[in-house]
Amino acid sequence: MALDMRSPIESGCPDGFQYMHPTMRRNYGLWKYHEHPRPGVLVHYAHSGEEIWTVKCATQRILDSFTLRTLCDIGDKYADGYIHFTIRSNVEYVVDTEEKVQPLIDAIEAAGFIVGGTANSIATLSHTQGWLHCDIPATDASGVVKSMMDELINEFKECNMPNRVHMSTSCCQINCGGSSDIAINIQHTKPPRIDHTQVGNVCERPSVVARCPVAAIRPAMVDGKPSLEVDEKKCICCGACFPPCPPMQINDAEHSKLAIWVGGNHSNARGKPTFQRLVAAGVPNNPPRWPEVTAIVKKILNTYKTDAKDWERMNDWIERIGWPQFFEKTGLPFTKYHIDNWRGARNSLNASTHIRF
Ligand code: SF4
Ligand code: SF4
Repeated sequence: MALDMRSPIESGCPDGFQYMHPTMRRNYGLWKYHEHPRPGVLVHYAHSGEEIWTVKCATQRILDSFTLRTLCDIGDKYADGYIHFTIRSNVEYVVDTEEKVQPLIDAIEAAGFIVGGTANSIATLSHTQGWLHCDIPATDASGVVKSMMDELINEFKECNMPNRVHMSTSCCQINCGGSSDIAINIQHTKPPRIDHTQVGNVCERPSVVARCPVAAIRPAMVDGKPSLEVDEKKCICCGACFPPCPPMQINDAEHSKLAIWVGGNHSNARGKPTFQRLVAAGVPNNPPRWPEVTAIVKKILNTYKTDAKDWERMNDWIERIGWPQFFEKTGLPFTKYHIDNWRGARNSLNASTHIRF
């Protein structure tokens, strides 16, 4: 008897072609060249003679439904009904003739959005979920982004950087985030404080033990109750034990700091992909405006802007001048925190900023 099999439920990413402008669909893979007539606008020419104009604008990333509707209405009215989100939460509208570009830009700007973010500009900063959605953040990554972007917005609107700059912030040390030209990440500086009254009730102890990358956690009995203990000499303050076991409290108003990393790049177009490296540690986690972070980031960006050659990405620039010159030119202090003193460091030292064995 033939079985009436249940068909699979497709829950993956939908086919992107259905959301593409018809001109893009018709010319898929058949583009000849593109131009960048002004910041925020790109034009692509196809072998068929058709063209597509792209206008990019920034969003605040976490969008309320009113803002989303406003953006979609602009797309319906001025951009042939199409709208795309980029990896850094910018919005791209596409139209098929140059005449539609200026009315579209006027509508975007009249609604309060900022056009820019193309070519050698600073793209909108990406950030992790922060206090809004996640259960383990030690800072509000989106707040750090807002404070910095307020000061860097001209670099989004204009194309004055040597090459594109991608920046990101991350509100814990272990999960989201990624490689960026400049990244601002949480850095815990103290081992977790354990609430022994709660561990037995809340945590599955073997999985917490298994979670520690340096085997610093052991099961223990405390005051007659099952709990955990941490070998603080081994602990690298990564915070990985906190998500599965909230009583391993690592977030701390004073000891959870921010760290700044530079030179990460996923691309392998001109060179190998690179990991980002730590350049500033123990920066105060100072809401609501995080002025210390912005000051350091601006220092790095200004040095990069004046010192890098045209089209050098941040990692290419540092590779050319070398790390000693990077610290000298930016004026950032090189401290003991830049030296990897983790006991497993022998394997990673050759990837650190300064030490070569
Ligand atoms: S970076 Fe960490 S704290 Fe922030 S959203 Fe991701 S998992 Fe949550
Ligand atoms: S913070 Fe990281 S290294 Fe320290 S005990 Fe927890 S999991 Fe282990």
